[in-house]
Amino acid sequence: MTNERIEKALEGATDTQSVSIGEGVLGTVADLYAQSFGDRPAVVVADENTFAVAGREVQGHLEAAGRERREPYVFPGTPTLYAEYGNIEALIASLREHDAIPVAVGSGSLNDIAKRAAFECERPYMSVATAASMDGYTAFGAAITKDGYKRTMTCPAPHSVLADVGVLTGAPPKMTAAGYADLLSKVTAGADWLVADALGIEPIDQHVWSLVQGPLREATGRPAELQAGDRQAMEGLIEGLVMSGLAMQAAASSRPASGAEHQFSHLWEMEGLGHDDVPPLSHGFKVGVGSLAIASLYERLLERDLTTLDADAICSAWPTWDEVERNVRAAHTTPGLDDAAVTETREKYVDAGELEKRLALLAQRWPDLRERVRAQLLGPGELREMLRAAGCPTHPEDIGLSVEAFRDTYRRAQMIRRRYTVLDLTNETGLLDELVAELFAGDGFWAPATARSAR
Ligand SMILES: [Zn+2]
Repeated sequence: MTNERIEKALEGATDTQSVSIGEGVLGTVADLYAQSFGDRPAVVVADENTFAVAGREVQGHLEAAGRERREPYVFPGTPTLYAEYGNIEALIASLREHDAIPVAVGSGSLNDIAKRAAFECERPYMSVATAASMDGYTAFGAAITKDGYKRTMTCPAPHSVLADVGVLTGAPPKMTAAGYADLLSKVTAGADWLVADALGIEPIDQHVWSLVQGPLREATGRPAELQAGDRQAMEGLIEGLVMSGLAMQAAASSRPASGAEHQFSHLWEMEGLGHDDVPPLSHGFKVGVGSLAIASLYERLLERDLTTLDADAICSAWPTWDEVERNVRAAHTTPGLDDAAVTETREKYVDAGELEKRLALLAQRWPDLRERVRAQLLGPGELREMLRAAGCPTHPEDIGLSVEAFRDTYRRAQMIRRRYTVLDLTNETGLLDELVAELFAGDGFWAPATARSAR
């Protein structure tokens, strides 16, 4: 059962050929497998938890259909499976003993492990989702920790994806909440793309934009029902997450689904925030707090008139690349991240002359851009209510981060990815520190009194 919107999105997807979402679709897994891979043998890959939830049933359906299969590859259920390279090596060693196609039954980490292992074995794979916890099911690339450093490793998205709404509804509520936050982050991600588009840095592809932004408001509109286990709300969520991944395939970039809020999350992830929590702090929970951080920054920025900036003063105070590099190295000392941050920042650095041109363009486009961004965004207060209703954390301390470290993230996150976001816009207009100071002072969104009473 595949709806029209997904069919349309599949036309532009480079890797994924079929997606099946709906109540009870697990019963059709053998058909989807045959349609995808013909007569080739299958191997179920799961961990003990996901094998119990759906893996055994998948194995049973393949068996009933007379499908040739290998012994399932099942990772331990505890501690929580982590996407580290050692797990990929173990799976690869097992896959090399045969030529079966992996059917990954699980959520984020399991999917990332299978995705990369299948790629290294030059095989396609199929993903059977067990939780609507993130948008990576239909995305290319895998977030893997290797040598203690979390990175995105190249690999195509799955050939086919199956998501049974009944299975997803039975997942731990925290996983659903995390997926909700990952989907809601497309609100600020979209605003960042509008900014990059207006400044001629990264033009918007209308088709790709509509894949993510089209169903977004509807899919994120019922957080409380979702948390209460409503199946329709769940179907909307998984569809939104799947569409987000397909949009990334069509764009060959994560731009449609990821802006500054993800830069906050990536930085915390690379620094190991919540890594030792049981279960580990989810991608979605970090992204949710990141989205609030960015929505509150936008709210302040939109009150400013960027048509009357003193461009001469800004450009003469603009740091040279050498100064910027020193700042980046002072802000990032994590091995691996330090050099990566320098490379990423260098990629988007403009000198004072180029900045002057950019500020002139900004002055010209700001009235229109401001209206477009306003229409795109939700206020931070509203966003916080939605996240809370979905069962997501809404304050840095809820995810184990001090307010001070959170505040520092505004500057530090700007340095770790080349993607142009509101962090760059505020940095290049000389407003970043000022706006952040406003957010944490007096009646600012993150002022102790305001933020605490709202928790
Ligand atoms: Zn995400």
